[in-house]
Amino acid sequence: MRIDCTNLIGGEWTPCADNAPNRCPANTDEILGQSPVSGADEANAAIAAAEAALPGWRETTAPQRGALLFQLVRLLERDADKLAEALSREEGKILREAKGEVGKTIRYVEFAAGDARRMTGITSESELPGTTAMTIWRPHGVVGLITPWNFPVCIPLWKIAPAVAAGNTVVLKPAPETPATAHLIGELLAEAGFPAGVVNIVHGDVAPAQAILDHPAVKAISFTGSTSVGRIVEKRCGELHKPVQCELGGKNPLIVLDDADIDKAAAACALGAFGSTGQRCTATSRAIVMESVADAFVAKVQDLAGQVRAGHPMDEATTMGPSVSERQLDQVLRYMEIGRGEADQLCGGTRLTDDGLDKGYFPAPTIFDRVSADARIATEEIFGPVLSVVRVGGLDEAIEVANAVDFGLTSSIFTSDISKAFVAIEQLESGMTHVNNPTIGGEAHMPFGGIKATGVGPREMGPDAWKFYAESKTVYINHGGGARKSNLY
Ligand code: NAD
Repeated sequence: MRIDCTNLIGGEWTPCADNAPNRCPANTDEILGQSPVSGADEANAAIAAAEAALPGWRETTAPQRGALLFQLVRLLERDADKLAEALSREEGKILREAKGEVGKTIRYVEFAAGDARRMTGITSESELPGTTAMTIWRPHGVVGLITPWNFPVCIPLWKIAPAVAAGNTVVLKPAPETPATAHLIGELLAEAGFPAGVVNIVHGDVAPAQAILDHPAVKAISFTGSTSVGRIVEKRCGELHKPVQCELGGKNPLIVLDDADIDKAAAACALGAFGSTGQRCTATSRAIVMESVADAFVAKVQDLAGQVRAGHPMDEATTMGPSVSERQLDQVLRYMEIGRGEADQLCGGTRLTDDGLDKGYFPAPTIFDRVSADARIATEEIFGPVLSVVRVGGLDEAIEVANAVDFGLTSSIFTSDISKAFVAIEQLESGMTHVNNPTIGGEAHMPFGGIKATGVGPREMGPDAWKFYAESKTVYINHGGGARKSNLY
């Protein structure tokens, strides 16, 4: 399946002068197509198209916009396998995980489509006789969406669906590592009947993204990516007074107490640490384990790490695909080197090159034990299949260690003591906490996002996601003829 991507500007598939090959990270000889290397000019053209489409789109009603999203759901269901294959080949997650991502996307778009009939304000009696007070929601106008490569179907549509439901037109700048999935999403939006210019897609990297941030016609920004780039985005939006939503990096802890089901905890930990090659923002990168059960827990996780089968993501026998790029693999290998100077390496620690894996970017599942809470591998995001085990004496210390990082996306605790679970729920500094479940996982109707250096602005998904894409306006209607007087006169 070769997909040659072009930008989508004002309903036209618009080629770009400069293009880059899109290579499969499991086998770089496999060319999947090409994608535009756009600059500011292409971004500005897309913004102009979004501005031009705005008046017509604002005239549609929210239920009409929701109906188009329901049509998109049907098309996503029809093309789920095609999308999953493109995702698997270009991002590297195994096909089963790719299908899971597409399914999760469909459930969220369906939820957002329903929201189009629920974007309600409040009405109230006023202090003034004969006056009604109420709130209404108005779209921002043109909204800029900048997304990462690790969930290239889910994250663009988590943003596009509520943005268009609320009446905005959008410019999406997807990650340069995963252009094909964005291209397919654009095709489905067009087929669903979204008018030209309502959703525009500009491929490329920093230059078009910065043009989107800077342009005065772009009234709000939703960004998902690394904390370092998020900081740049937040600063620029602050300078320009643009509402901004940033979902950034993570360093998610899984706490194991001495009363936990160790088998379940180990399975959840291995899934969170090595699943999707550790390239989930919700990946488990720290196991914080009570010393009394640590040996048993670590032995089980190590056994599960040994069962991981790295390979091409489309191969059914594969349980772990590659890192997405050479740059990402280099980052993981660098942290493995740092880890060897900080802790005991139990397994992994290398690049995998046997059996044809040398054609791709495969890191070995890696476990470091007896890691100190302030070690670099315990505090910095690695974004690979690397687990740091920190041994602790009890619940209080576990929570202290869990909170001793800048990030705050998700966390998990394994315990059979409900009182201890509630202490953790109360005290863990993260946007999401799981009890006796992996750190991964999110549902369409529940808010998703983090705190501290992970999240700025309101949550994505859940019943309030669309509110980021709208401004509340308070209205007073005097239908009784009385006159408002201030307290002074
Ligand atoms: P990244 O920050 O390198 O890139 C994200 C996007 O920003 C890309 O589209 C990129 O082209 C663009 N970009 C790069 N430099 C920019 C600049 N100077 N100004 C404006 N835009 C710029 O992130 P990535 O490597 O694509 O994704 C991985 C990161 O995303 C990880 O840190 C991961 O934790 C995070 N992530 C977070 C969540 C969440 O919900 N919290 C979800 C998924 C991924």
